[in-house]
Amino acid sequence: MIRRVDLRGRVAAGEVLDLQALVPRAEFDVEKALDVVRPITEAVRHRGADAIREFGAKFDHVAVTDLRVPAEALKTALEELDPAIRSAFEESIRRVREVSEDERGEDVHSEPAKGGRVTQRLVPVQRVGLYVPGGRAPLSSSVVMNVVPAQVAGVPSLAVASPPQQDGLPHPTILAVCELLGIDEVYAMGGAQAIAGFAYGFEGCRKVNMITGPGNIYVVAAKRLLKGQIGIDSEAGPTEIAVLADDTADAGHVAADLISQAEHDPMAASVLVTPSTKLADEVEAQLIKQVQNTKHAERITEALSGEQSGIVLVDDLDQGTAVVDAYGAEHLEIQTADAEQRAETINNAGAVFIGAWSPVSLGDYCAGSNHVLPTAGCACHSSGLSVRSFLKAMHVVNYTREALEDVAGHVVTLANAEDLPAHGAAITQRFTQ
Ligand code: NAD
Repeated sequence: MIRRVDLRGRVAAGEVLDLQALVPRAEFDVEKALDVVRPITEAVRHRGADAIREFGAKFDHVAVTDLRVPAEALKTALEELDPAIRSAFEESIRRVREVSEDERGEDVHSEPAKGGRVTQRLVPVQRVGLYVPGGRAPLSSSVVMNVVPAQVAGVPSLAVASPPQQDGLPHPTILAVCELLGIDEVYAMGGAQAIAGFAYGFEGCRKVNMITGPGNIYVVAAKRLLKGQIGIDSEAGPTEIAVLADDTADAGHVAADLISQAEHDPMAASVLVTPSTKLADEVEAQLIKQVQNTKHAERITEALSGEQSGIVLVDDLDQGTAVVDAYGAEHLEIQTADAEQRAETINNAGAVFIGAWSPVSLGDYCAGSNHVLPTAGCACHSSGLSVRSFLKAMHVVNYTREALEDVAGHVVTLANAEDLPAHGAAITQRFTQ
């Protein structure tokens, strides 16, 4: 069901371990997917909506005539939304909005010299394309995770894309949540063709400045390919969970959490890191028992038995902490007796979930945290989606004549030191007329 990687005793035997290379990882990575998506993004660049429709027919097996979802379809989807689901979404939205508002931050005003003012203004990106996955599961919760922080940041123009279902429209729950949040620009397009459509624009859709949102390996590869042309958030690809656990953890809970993320994608990664062979054995037994009762047993089994998943046995919890930190998981659960203190030592993870009562599924929907998180080790340099992802920091410089005169000598000296005398002249000219 799940392979084991045994690191015990190797350091004592004098080996220097390359932890990053030893932790399970997928072999089909974003770099390889680039070859698949390059012709797709090129076709969209040159042939716009026609190419998007053709790839929709090829990959989503549906003919879409109008890529833009009509306002009436959004309205109807919300009217027909199950009231219990609506109420759950309202609570999820409330929590994500509260966290986003707390995190937004203010403009920063500084005066490094008398009369010399520098303000850091936080300015929203003006137009953003938000991707909502819809291949295997319609991730309507990703509408909340994308839209709410963007709205709190003040982004004036937001468009959503999600793959068409059999009726040619994105999943009705995705449409309903868009309507609930007041989003009226929604497109029935998925995968790399949606990312390229947003990046280049096409008939009826103005190109965007930035694309955010999670997706499968093809979505991530397209974001990487078009980065620079447009801004992106992190590379939020096939999901990963790492659980660092000791004997105090409940094997049934750990197994359920590993399974919950494996449910996303056969490429999803579920990794348990533990010094306890007892826990490892119990979790493996629980995986076998629990997987057979899940709706998506086939997909989960493929993910758990894939090269990207595994149980890593370590000498002790300190080595385990080093392992998960080197791995840089999208989601890291710490289920140890000292979980809270141990979490403080983690540098690399998309999000950290502490103890028995903060499972990743909570974060997927209703913790108030964001579920769009960096994968494939990108947590070592990138953050998950948040209100800050949609804000640019812009310095505004405002000096008085006196403040400029005070510092003019230093500017001229530095300009001459760089052999750029015209820079200095732009200062002195002001005081020699
Ligand atoms: P998706 O919407 O991401 O992808 C579906 C699209 O993929 C299709 O519309 C199609 O255009 C394209 N596609 C499928 N097969 C292709 C192929 N062979 N070549 C080129 N394009 C192809 O939906 P999904 O597939 O269900 O994946 C959702 C992903 O999002 C999962 O991997 C899940 O783990 C991930 N996810 C990540 C996060 C995160 O924050 N990291 C959060 C939620 C979900």
